[in-house]
Amino acid sequence: MKTLQKPVPPGGTIGIIGGGQLGRMLALAAARLGLKTCIYNDAPDAPAFQVTPDSVSAPYDDLDALSIFAARCDAVTFEFENLPAHAIAHLESQVAVRPGAAALAITQDRLSEKTFVAKLGLKTAPFFEVSSVEQARAAFAKLGGRGIIKTRRFGYDGKGQAKVAGAEETVAAFEKFKAPAILEGFVDFAFEASVIAARGADGAFAAYDPPENEHENHILRRSTVPSRLSVAHVAEAKAIAKTIGDALDYVGVFAVELFVGSDGALLVNEIAPRVHNTGHWTIEACAVSQFEQHIRAVAGWPLGDGVRHADAVMENIIGAEADAWEALARSGALHLYGKRESRPGRKMGHLTRLSPLTKR
Ligand code: AMP
Repeated sequence: MKTLQKPVPPGGTIGIIGGGQLGRMLALAAARLGLKTCIYNDAPDAPAFQVTPDSVSAPYDDLDALSIFAARCDAVTFEFENLPAHAIAHLESQVAVRPGAAALAITQDRLSEKTFVAKLGLKTAPFFEVSSVEQARAAFAKLGGRGIIKTRRFGYDGKGQAKVAGAEETVAAFEKFKAPAILEGFVDFAFEASVIAARGADGAFAAYDPPENEHENHILRRSTVPSRLSVAHVAEAKAIAKTIGDALDYVGVFAVELFVGSDGALLVNEIAPRVHNTGHWTIEACAVSQFEQHIRAVAGWPLGDGVRHADAVMENIIGAEADAWEALARSGALHLYGKRESRPGRKMGHLTRLSPLTKR
């Protein structure tokens, strides 16, 4: 396994697997630090290709192309973490990869992720493995109430998920997925929040103020800071992220999605081993954004100051909403991702509105 002996100096190249909007914003942040990027994407028209000096376009399991990519990079990271394990191992044998394969393996699979979180003594919704029809029935019997069945891997924006209220519904959803799943108890949360945190290779830790997040049709609509979390809750949320980051020996930015229960409990829903949509407001509201923070950690640089200097509301621009770009440009800090066509549910950009700081 290759490791980074010293920081990647200005002029060096950070490799990014995945060329969507997250890769694009990472590349822009790297450029601000005088670092170059090489972006790897399986399609040739990736939004991030428009803003990177170097790129490779090949399937994510093409080991020869991954070797060519690795040779051009001083360190490699991800905006898209669902690479097959053997491809990540192949990359790791040639170049420093941050976060590493172990952290990715745990967070790629909802069952291993939730098991890991529970072992750390952190709270989650009740969850049960569903790898067979018998397990689907038994899991619902144990749960005894409403639940959500989710595929263990490759789910996003509500894909590979179904609400269930009975054993036969659970079986039917599992059979439709045709993939290993977990059944989770349905959490009657007061609201959702997330912690965006960074961990350096030296164990340094920094967390942003946790935003409150609203979803529509399973897609993030809005993130707001400050959230309704109390000062004590904010400290607890950041401590949860630190526990997870340390246990994963994580390097880079990651997000911990939380349910804030009506009883005040903070439940961990999901860990995202990358920069996160709920942290986009940090570009305008913090001196060092989540994207720059991630590049700093991956390159072995000191972490930056993530203190928020403004209140912020970030809204995603989804599908045809991007057609109103002129009106949107009038009303805030507009980011458009350079996607050629809009499709329903596709994230086309986001808009951040700042207001004076009311609470820290
Ligand atoms: P996920 O893909 O796990 O991040 O879930 C996407 C969204 O579905 C979450 O942000 C919640 O709004 C909702 N959701 C997921 N799991 C649960 C649960 N166990 N109880 C209630 N809502 C959930």
